[in-house]
Amino acid sequence: MKVPFLDLRVTEADERERLLGAFERVLSHGCLVMGPEVDALERTIAEYCGRKYAVTVGSGTDALYFGLRALSIGPGDEVITTSLSWIATANAIALTGATPVFADIRADLNIDPQSVAKSITRKTKAILAVDYTGKICDMSALQDIASQNGLMLMEDGSQAFGAEYRGGRCGSFGTISGISHNPMKVFAACGEAGSLLCDSSEVYERLVSLRYNGTVNQETCIEPSLNGRMDALQAAILLERFKGLPSVIERRRNNARMYSEKLRGFVGIPTEDSHQTDVYYTYTIRSSKRNELKAYLENHGIETKVQHPLLMPQQPAYRDSAKGDFSLAKRLVEQVLCIPIHEKLTLQQLSHVVSVIHQFGPSEPGKVE
Ligand SMILES: *Cc1c(COP(=O)(O)O)cnc(C)c1O
Repeated sequence: MKVPFLDLRVTEADERERLLGAFERVLSHGCLVMGPEVDALERTIAEYCGRKYAVTVGSGTDALYFGLRALSIGPGDEVITTSLSWIATANAIALTGATPVFADIRADLNIDPQSVAKSITRKTKAILAVDYTGKICDMSALQDIASQNGLMLMEDGSQAFGAEYRGGRCGSFGTISGISHNPMKVFAACGEAGSLLCDSSEVYERLVSLRYNGTVNQETCIEPSLNGRMDALQAAILLERFKGLPSVIERRRNNARMYSEKLRGFVGIPTEDSHQTDVYYTYTIRSSKRNELKAYLENHGIETKVQHPLLMPQQPAYRDSAKGDFSLAKRLVEQVLCIPIHEKLTLQQLSHVVSVIHQFGPSEPGKVE
């Protein structure tokens, strides 16, 4: 039996028809960039996240970069972020001219607020907190640290759209939240797409300007920036998929519940506190024999991923100058393995994954503090 890590084909007849209908509508009205679907999507996600404003952009990377620019982050500033994330997080900071400072993570793979507190210097301007694996990070602790130290807080919610934490949704934390809607993400377009959420009208105006070459009133450029607007087609697709989002999240959560029941004691499993609802962008297990387990699963038709084999500060682009302390992250990154969790998995496929991991035998690593 084959178990793919992801299946991005649109196979369900109903979804296919709805997406093709969206494409037809865009072809008919001809506003190909921005347009009515973009306006509708911005209203929809702002309301869903409990924010005043949403600004759609071309990718999650755009969202992070424009967000940091809108917070006036630039050369000479330090931004504290996690050491374990997709490299876009660090790149967005570096591209503003600021220096990323890498904090350690906790056993749940999210940024460790204590490590953040220890990393603050006179140059620190902001914290960029990533909701890694689809779990919102410890936002109350981070908000406390930010307000006690006069720092701004920005959320990278790329992996966690739809997740909840103490009654707040992903996208509602910090001054600005950046989201990716690339095809791998839980709330996904059929191509590159991203969005930003905020409550301040000034921040909103600046984001709108930054996403189109720093222009205001069509033509006047007030600061250099990039073109990061969203295609009408991606907005139309996201609007259609928004209707199915609750069921996508429910299926992922059901898959995770099944795994967690059956895999406990065999490998390290993700945990979820009662004040959190995770969306399982990835279901990341930990194993003391990670590479052997990965090969064993591969031999039994199960595709897995190590996200990410290199911490951001270990990447060639950053390793010579990387600032920060990330000793637990270094240990954990040797143990992590993402197994298939997507909403198209059948019960047979899930059972196959479980039984192959059982066959492999227990390899749960020791507890971490
Ligand atoms: C996917 C992702 C991004 C980048 O989003 P793109 O849409 O691929 O540019 C940024 N941060 C995190 C945590 C991500 O998972």
